[in-house]
Amino acid sequence: MAFSLHPPDARLLEGRRALVTGGSSGIGAGTCYELAAHGAAVAVNYVGSDEAARQICADIEAAGGTAVPIEMDVADEAAVQGGFAAAVDALGGLDLLLNNAGVEKAYALVDMPLDTWRMVLDVNLTGAFLCSREAARIMTKAPGTPRAILMMSSVHEVIPWENFSHYCASKGGMKLFAQTIAKELAPQGIRVASIAPGAIATPINADVLADPEASKRVVAEVPYGRWGQVADIAQAVAWLASTQADYVVGSTLFVDGGMALYPGFS
Ligand code: BGC
Repeated sequence: MAFSLHPPDARLLEGRRALVTGGSSGIGAGTCYELAAHGAAVAVNYVGSDEAARQICADIEAAGGTAVPIEMDVADEAAVQGGFAAAVDALGGLDLLLNNAGVEKAYALVDMPLDTWRMVLDVNLTGAFLCSREAARIMTKAPGTPRAILMMSSVHEVIPWENFSHYCASKGGMKLFAQTIAKELAPQGIRVASIAPGAIATPINADVLADPEASKRVVAEVPYGRWGQVADIAQAVAWLASTQADYVVGSTLFVDGGMALYPGFS
């Protein structure tokens, strides 16, 4: 893809070293590009096929940026330790983590298989814990530099969603996990904050996007009247990661076209 870095005086993250979990598709992929455009060196985490992650890294490197693919299952403790060590090795350190890896699969409560429940909680919440713990261990050794741990949460950290009780539990859990570690890490100069996307046009929503009626029903939940785009989120992440957001600690930035404003209530 045609990719270029932002002009030097527009870059918010020059010299920063970032790891993006679930970086090879959707919001994660778009965010890898945006962080790199702002001058960050980026570790693009993936699991399974390495093709997309390698392409993202090739695009970034071709534009003069720095990026490395890192394979790691965020729910596997040993894999996370190995993945972070590889990222630190490749980038010379780490001062930005985006816990972005996330999965969902609709099931009514009465039909929810235990292994689906566990898989969603493992990736979305335990993955964020394992990666944040690893990042904090690394970042506490570099006092005085800008450091941040960001969560890709969701409007569903506050909006209940039928047939997604596992997903909502994971994001609701993420909210208090993020706020709690924000308190723990703030005295050490490490900021923790969350982004809550609404309905974003990405592969996770492919089925809904392919069905015009279902897609219209989603837009009806958005006061601003459109699907969000990956760039809407990626640009918010870049800002939240930067020193421009230096006093933003423990809060969630909703980037949702107003979806969390109870549009059905009037
Ligand atoms: C989910 C999407 C959904 C959106 C709004 C996100 O967290 O991943 O599938 O469209 O929330 O409901």
